[in-house]
Amino acid sequence: MSKGKLVVFTGCSGVGKGTIMKRLFELDKSVKLSVSCTTRQPREGEIDGVHYYFVTKSEFENLIKENGFLEYATYCDNYYGTPEKAVDEMLDKGYNVFLEIEVQGGLQVIKKRPDAVSIFIMPPSIEELENRLRGRGTEDEETIQKRLSCVDAEMKVASEYQYNIVNDEVDAAAQKILDIINK
Ligand code: 5GP
Repeated sequence: MSKGKLVVFTGCSGVGKGTIMKRLFELDKSVKLSVSCTTRQPREGEIDGVHYYFVTKSEFENLIKENGFLEYATYCDNYYGTPEKAVDEMLDKGYNVFLEIEVQGGLQVIKKRPDAVSIFIMPPSIEELENRLRGRGTEDEETIQKRLSCVDAEMKVASEYQYNIVNDEVDAAAQKILDIINK
């Protein structure tokens, strides 16, 4: 069996990465999402081990010491990281493994794994992004402001990614991604 592809999948908070991922799962059974560790609090409906592994700061720092992460970063005052072993096990089984991660981590993976495919999801506009972030109603105003202030910096890094895809229509964006990974 041939190895799967590692896909760095980045886009600003609220750009619709989660919705695109859902569509990808429906369209292609080879697609798997890596489950990250984070120190942020679970949102309503989030399940430990499914959406994230929710860990304490000291648990996270122990994993850093043990070299357990393919990449990790601090984003809006919390740690987020990709457990390396689980990713390699899925790749060995032939799955295409998506890392839904922010830019600092994305750049680490692009450097560390030159065979990774890197995809940056762009919003149709900044106004649209702000509307989506407010519309989903999962964050308070302070958190929304923090996330919006990251957008400029994040968009500047988009050119470091192999592919920039505008999410103006979920099905079209998902199809473009499948065309890229199945090339
Ligand atoms: P959220 O708190 O909205 O779930 O995620 C915040 C940001 O952290 C998003 O841009 C998300 O893609 C990113 N993120 C999630 N998991 C990881 C990870 O393992 N590593 C890094 N570097 N970023 C992550």
